[in-house]
Amino acid sequence: MEALIDKPGPIEVETILSANWVAPLSGLLNLKHPVAVKAGIRDREEPIEIYTHLLRHPSHGAFMVDTGVSKRFVQDPKGVGVGLVIRNFAKLDRMKVRNEPLSAVQSKGVELKGVLMTHLHFDHISGMPDIPTDIPFYTGMGEANTRQLQNLFFQGMENRLFEGRPAIREFQFTKDPNDRFDGVVDVFGDGTLFSILTPGHTAGHVSFVARTPEGPVLLTGDACHTRWGWDHGVEPGTYTYDRAKERKSLLALKALSERHPNMIVRLGHQP
Ligand SMILES: [Zn+2]
Repeated sequence: MEALIDKPGPIEVETILSANWVAPLSGLLNLKHPVAVKAGIRDREEPIEIYTHLLRHPSHGAFMVDTGVSKRFVQDPKGVGVGLVIRNFAKLDRMKVRNEPLSAVQSKGVELKGVLMTHLHFDHISGMPDIPTDIPFYTGMGEANTRQLQNLFFQGMENRLFEGRPAIREFQFTKDPNDRFDGVVDVFGDGTLFSILTPGHTAGHVSFVARTPEGPVLLTGDACHTRWGWDHGVEPGTYTYDRAKERKSLLALKALSERHPNMIVRLGHQP
């Protein structure tokens, strides 16, 4: 991967702001990290953004990375299978949809071929009600089967959204020969798009590097939610499956971007 990514490539990446939202900073950023403690950062409500990224490959077609938020999800959460606990816990009333993901994709005159998921948390699958049921979804290994506390609440909704769709396809990672990452996969097999296994936020979380005419674009997903966290190397907070792995994944991505200074970095929930 790293021998290739500084060469311009054919993929177009467009990041679409799908919704504005808020979350407690303590979820997004580890406030107990010594760097955060030293900076005196306290918990507060933090404005965040929810994205979908439209990737266009000249022969493989158009793919979304994560789904953004559909209006139906916010206006009729019950109707799309979101239970009361989640509706309250997740402050859905504070979610403001700016661009519906599928209409944003269709307005470009492209046909969606698949959805590549960084992970399956609800703010990343909340555009699913708009996505045709024959479109395949791809995730990291084990992502769909992991049971964790957060997933206990979300499992019902997740099952409902994936009902009647093709089985989720998993990226088949191979070990990174340089041992810098847990795994890397060449998504199309032509060296234009790579998925990097970056576990920690969830068990099977992945990030992506696309080769574009302007240089490599890194989509971190929720390996890093915030701009401050990226700039200071502080991993996410309580929204964490495995803290040690999460920290390792974030530092590996930061080191990657430092080895490739022309890399454009797009974070999970902030510009
Ligand atoms: Zn997220």
